[in-house]
Amino acid sequence: MIEMQDVYKTYPNGVIALNGISVRIKQGEFVYVVGPSGAGKSTFIKMMYREEKPTSGKIMINGVNLANIKDSKVPLLRRNIGIVFQDFKLLPKLTVYENVAFALEVIEESPKNIRKRVMEVLDLVRLKHKARFYPNELSGGEQQRVSIARSIVNNPSIVIADEPTGNLDPDTSWEIMDIFERINDRGTTIVMATHNREIVNTIRKRVIAIERGKIARDEVKGEYGYET
Ligand code: ADP
Ligand code: ADP
Repeated sequence: MIEMQDVYKTYPNGVIALNGISVRIKQGEFVYVVGPSGAGKSTFIKMMYREEKPTSGKIMINGVNLANIKDSKVPLLRRNIGIVFQDFKLLPKLTVYENVAFALEVIEESPKNIRKRVMEVLDLVRLKHKARFYPNELSGGEQQRVSIARSIVNNPSIVIADEPTGNLDPDTSWEIMDIFERINDRGTTIVMATHNREIVNTIRKRVIAIERGKIARDEVKGEYGYET
């Protein structure tokens, strides 16, 4: 469960990015976050994994008040939250396998468990056959699938994605959505900021629209609602 109460965020330069946000997202939901550029979508989702702290207001993730988490405990929080970026953020000098295994090696899993789990998630994103490839040997869609595999390797309860299809062509974007849907089917909450009108209007899910730092719409099986 993700819960925000009266969340405000003013950046040090004085920009008010969030202007009073209250929302609840239950375990297992699939939520699109839409809205114009600069509306506050990235800031909204960064609050969930503590990339930014609110100026005021309360944020609870799975019953934990983020205000009570010390900076040193943020990595612990993030083990339960997978994060997927528009530009993949893979480590270029590591293979596909190593990029995915990295998060497990950090927590000192046994080599046998690491191997099993990495191959499981590479199978889920259909990239087992490219385990030994390096990121620059993969297409954009394949790199995004690796980054999704990495995001779920710790079995997080939540996956947060910031424009995951923003750099991909339409066909590849649908493949990425298929993977997110399969992850969601297994009970993982998905929160996805997106500008992809066709996807939002076709694969109908909850839509939270943010405009000028406020929730302008919150609809079950909503629509994208903007022209571009
Ligand atoms: P969106 O994701 O909807 O494009 P953002 O959350 O990135 O919106 O940005 C909301 C507003 O906050 C914008 O005016 C943006 O310029 C500003 N902003 C975002 N990040 C920062 C930052 N680190 N410092 C100052 N202003 C920022
Ligand atoms: P897409 O059109 O889906 O983006 P690409 O045309 O980039 O895909 O790649 C098609 C296939 O060729 C993919 O399986 C990818 O792994 C492989 N490939 C692309 N670039 C390279 C490269 N530099 N070295 C090895 N394989 C590559």
